[in-house]
Amino acid sequence: MSKKEAIRLEPVLQEKIWGGSRLGSVFGYAIPSGHTGECWAISGHANGDCPVANPEYAGETLGSLWKKQPELFGNVGGETFPLLIKIIDAKDDLSIQVHPNDEYARVHENGALGKTECWYVLDCDPGASIIIGHNAASPAEMREMVEQERWTELLREVPIQKGDFFQIDPGCLHAIKGGTLILETQQSSDVTYRFYDYGRLENGKPRALHIEQSLAVTQAPFQPHPIHRETVREGGAQVTRLVACPYYTVFRVEVDGLWEKDWDQPFVNVSVIGGEGVLDGQKVKKGDHLLLPAGYGKMSLEGTLELICSHL
Ligand code: ZN
Repeated sequence: MSKKEAIRLEPVLQEKIWGGSRLGSVFGYAIPSGHTGECWAISGHANGDCPVANPEYAGETLGSLWKKQPELFGNVGGETFPLLIKIIDAKDDLSIQVHPNDEYARVHENGALGKTECWYVLDCDPGASIIIGHNAASPAEMREMVEQERWTELLREVPIQKGDFFQIDPGCLHAIKGGTLILETQQSSDVTYRFYDYGRLENGKPRALHIEQSLAVTQAPFQPHPIHRETVREGGAQVTRLVACPYYTVFRVEVDGLWEKDWDQPFVNVSVIGGEGVLDGQKVKKGDHLLLPAGYGKMSLEGTLELICSHL
């Protein structure tokens, strides 16, 4: 049997009121406007299902391939492709939000999944920050601060730098702020409670808030998720494990030579965030997103590249 091909995915670009133009200028994607907020890079989600570029799978999307050829994904089961990889260009601040866990979502959101996500900061403006967590000592104090609209005091703002990494567990208040380019790896779920939107208007109206659900699922007091980066040298690559949680494991990889690896996973997501090289005879470059299917065997990647890789 000939070697399985890496599956190449075409991004789905989404306009957002807070979006910018860096998905075009930095990654070369064909952005629909200067308010492009998200590139859904590896997604089988109905709201942005990535077309597959390989001629062998003409007309398919990641979502359709997941249903028709589960063996490509190691037959891991589940109705939809379980992860979602996005690149987010926040020109302006995103609303403050929180996600429920699987248990809360199952009961209150019609059997949906909760959402755990993580952020790798690709780039940011000097002085950029994010919101992660809050300063209330208890649920009661949080409710009081919300009722009194003491937002600045409540929200925990953290300065960020290029290369920073954050794990956002369910129940953690969070928001990307303006001037930030982020690669997000998450459970493929859309259950989001909007907690605060800076009093902004969209088409003349405030966007819907979900204060009660947010208060119900937000963990108080806030406990940051500690990040322990572990770096190993694997041939021509420096491989750093950023996080391993029940939903995904994420790596940042710097390739400066030949990197050979047999992942031995149901499938592996590969996003090229810098440089270029050759993956088993195929050219790959910054902005490309690929999926190595089950049984891919030993991967051989040569060049000067920066990658974010993930698997279940
Ligand atoms: Zn989120």
